[in-house]
Amino acid sequence: MTYLAKSPWIIHYDASSCNGCDIEILACLTPMYDVERFGIINTGNPKHADIFVVTGSVNEQNREVILNIYNQMPDPKVAVAVGICATSGGVFRECYNVAGGIDKLIPVDVYVMGCAARPESIIDGIVTALGILEKKRSEGASAPVVTDHHMNKEHHKHAEGGVQ
Ligand code: SF4
Repeated sequence: MTYLAKSPWIIHYDASSCNGCDIEILACLTPMYDVERFGIINTGNPKHADIFVVTGSVNEQNREVILNIYNQMPDPKVAVAVGICATSGGVFRECYNVAGGIDKLIPVDVYVMGCAARPESIIDGIVTALGILEKKRSEGASAPVVTDHHMNKEHHKHAEGGVQ
């Protein structure tokens, strides 16, 4: 990372995580870890955000919210899956209502491992995301509008069977 034309703003969404990873994300915003030193600000408005930080996994209740946030973000944008739940569904992956990691629904650029993900790992993932964001900016990359058909069809069958 050498030069950023604009301070990168993140938007954080808790997609049914246990809050463990969310607490670690909040720790990154405190003076102890201080991600603002990279110019990073946590915004609540997807239209102002460059980096989508998601914890937890995709389920029937939150998939529309994830799509709504992602599709409102301007191009170029980067998605970061934080924690093993966001990466693969984690310990909840066998639940009848869980489709899996965030990449079942939207393109994910960076995966941050851990349960919970450590602040150092989250910051490393965000800094990696900054590099990807700058590359996308220089290439003029744009992401397609993502729709629900990206959902794993097998999941729907699984979910329908699970509630019987
Ligand atoms: S990865 Fe672990 S700490 Fe993070 S949301 Fe999942 S269960 Fe909670």
